[in-house]
Amino acid sequence: MEHHLSQRVQRIKPSATLALTARAKALAAEGKAVIALTAGEPEFETPMAIREFTIAELKKGGQVSRYTPAAGLIELRRAVAAKFKRDNALTYAPEQCIVSCGAKHSIFNALAALVEDGDEVLIPAPYWVSYPEMCAFLGAKPVILDTSRTGMVLTPEALRAAITPRTRVLLVNTPGNPTGAVWSEQQQRALAHALEGTGVYVLSDEIYEKLCYDGKHFSFAACSQDAFERTVTINGGAKAFAMTGWRVGYAAGPRPVIDAMIALQSHSTSNPATVSQMATIKALEKDPAELPEWRACYLRRRDAFLAALNALPGVTCAKPGGAFYVFPDIRGWLGKRHGETLLNTDTDVCDALLAKSLVATVPGCEFGAPGFLRISYALSDRDVAEAIKRIREFAAALR
Ligand code: GLU
Repeated sequence: MEHHLSQRVQRIKPSATLALTARAKALAAEGKAVIALTAGEPEFETPMAIREFTIAELKKGGQVSRYTPAAGLIELRRAVAAKFKRDNALTYAPEQCIVSCGAKHSIFNALAALVEDGDEVLIPAPYWVSYPEMCAFLGAKPVILDTSRTGMVLTPEALRAAITPRTRVLLVNTPGNPTGAVWSEQQQRALAHALEGTGVYVLSDEIYEKLCYDGKHFSFAACSQDAFERTVTINGGAKAFAMTGWRVGYAAGPRPVIDAMIALQSHSTSNPATVSQMATIKALEKDPAELPEWRACYLRRRDAFLAALNALPGVTCAKPGGAFYVFPDIRGWLGKRHGETLLNTDTDVCDALLAKSLVATVPGCEFGAPGFLRISYALSDRDVAEAIKRIREFAAALR
């Protein structure tokens, strides 16, 4: 039987990061010793204090068994407002905050609230896989702004040159996925200045905020009053608190935009799982005690990958200031062979690395940067060491 799918859904394809992670997990389930450098997912457990608090709430029953308002528990919206004040010097009323089913969901809701068919959304590249796909689904036009020649940072000149009467939104993601680039306060202020008087909104995805190693995190909305009034700031528990599975993200911004996001959420998902909201109230009290230790682990793993990758012929890898990805340029490998397999593209390299060495990565083309690979180092020292060994052996076999 032929199924008629909407034009809208036919414009998108499944998330490459999630698809490749699922492929790696399926191979592991078959008993293959695969190392997944695919998903941006901490290998740590959610801190015990958060889990214990949640268990107690579950035992108490009552609220935990029930719906909450579509925008989330008011206690959690208050905790979100307090977090933005404490960490980012941003003053939002709890009514300006919405809790969603992950930061991805917050971004989708915000875009859906802002863009019309044919509107342009400026996306600095390399970008996270889901930004252009969300735009395509919503009928907006992703306008990709290459930053690879300016140190993975969008310059005010490039921003100004890209703005047209149809430009509605600029996506900002610092620390960034997949490059780990951290945009400084000064660089963001220059962008905010360039946007003044244009009416362009900013979605500032700050999910990697707590994973900054070189440089300091700065929130776009803190650039100026003008920036504050036209920015939706997005964050969540997944990366900072090792809470990917709980699916809680949140956003704060201008009241009419947040109200529109709440209306949309009230008709689509309703509230995020109540139990996860409760866990997030606990999480947002303060940074996890484990965070310094986690950061030290990430830093060690980043540096191990950097040293190993930069020592390989045909590979160069810039030093990322944050997040937990390295993004090596492997163009020097293209055109070579591994055994009988010809490696013409980054996708060929990924496929071969998985097939021959059981190392799963994501090709740069999925992030708008063909010729690169994304490697997540959010996994144990042992797995990092083994992955490095296998990548070295793979590289040594290239002809
Ligand atoms: N954001 C993470 C990544 O890029 C999680 C997977 C996803 O949602 O794309 O790997």
